[in-house]
Amino acid sequence: MNNLEVRNTNKKRIVNFLYANTKATKQDIAKSLNLSTPTVSLILKKLFAQGLVKKSGVLQSSGGRKPTAISLVYNAKLSAGIEITQNHLRFVIIDLSGHVLHYKKIREPFQNDNKYFGKVADSLELFFEENSIDPASILGVGIALPGVVDVKNGMLEYSPTLGVKNLPLEVLTSYFPYATMANNEANLAGFAEIWTIDSIDNAIFLSVNKGVGGAIIIGNKLYNGCNGRAGEFGHMTIVKDGLTCSCGKKGCFEAYCSTKVLTEPNFNDIDDFFGAISTGDKYCIEKWKTYLGYLSTGINNIHTIFDSDIIIGGEISQYIQQSSEFLNRNLSYANSFDRQYDYIRFSKYGDKASTVGAALLFVDSFLNE
Ligand SMILES: [Zn+2]
Repeated sequence: MNNLEVRNTNKKRIVNFLYANTKATKQDIAKSLNLSTPTVSLILKKLFAQGLVKKSGVLQSSGGRKPTAISLVYNAKLSAGIEITQNHLRFVIIDLSGHVLHYKKIREPFQNDNKYFGKVADSLELFFEENSIDPASILGVGIALPGVVDVKNGMLEYSPTLGVKNLPLEVLTSYFPYATMANNEANLAGFAEIWTIDSIDNAIFLSVNKGVGGAIIIGNKLYNGCNGRAGEFGHMTIVKDGLTCSCGKKGCFEAYCSTKVLTEPNFNDIDDFFGAISTGDKYCIEKWKTYLGYLSTGINNIHTIFDSDIIIGGEISQYIQQSSEFLNRNLSYANSFDRQYDYIRFSKYGDKASTVGAALLFVDSFLNE
């Protein structure tokens, strides 16, 4: 599963259609999704066998036999996601359409020891209990990690944020009585944002948190690069010999556009910083404008290379949306070819995206069985 692939299979399309249309007939589905009735019948047969759809009465007809209505048993199966960051844990439970049913974020600083790993598993169980989740309905637990993940060998190869190298994921997953899968947080966030869009072939996902990263989706597949490091946009140089970055080099995009640039040293988090902006704090407003200038330089570079939509995610996403006019002006100025900036999209899941993406790993494989 190194290649995260966004598959728009007919099964997934039918499940999503039934989510949006609480009662539908076989004919409605075939007509709306442009599928043949035998194809729809075959897929529905599988979905009935899996307990994912049910008959729900008959619908009115203008004559002849009344058609049977079909509904989704949308919570027949659920999936859980966990995101591990330096100081927090995020938990999410989603249904088969990728809808978030429950979400929770707790403060729990990372420690590379059994006490911490056990606590992650206990917190997940508590999260299930609090929401009356039947563990038997859980397809699996996806895990989002801030670093380079060797998916095949179950290894967190390198994470400067957590300060670990070559950490076998078994130290954590052995505490879970569920199937598990793990991947890099930015990849998973990109996966989540693309998964819910019915047709998208190519897109760039730019994730802006304390770290700046991203994901490249080409032909609905995640492009990993030769060493699994494609889309590490945070470490492209935007100012020669500029500020020192967390990677040790100078002038990286991340050194200018990490959210730390805004919050340090005066604010606890990004919400505090924007709280100050909303009170008209001149120093913060200037800082934000300078920040958006560098951000648009980076975004313009990425767009110049890929010529595709760019989805902005991470904790910065909602705040950029509020300042999009200023960003657009900068982007329009930076663009060599035209004055266009309509390639910018904003994340649907915001700071939950990585956690949702982790949970989607199991939904996706289930719907593609
Ligand atoms: Zn760097």
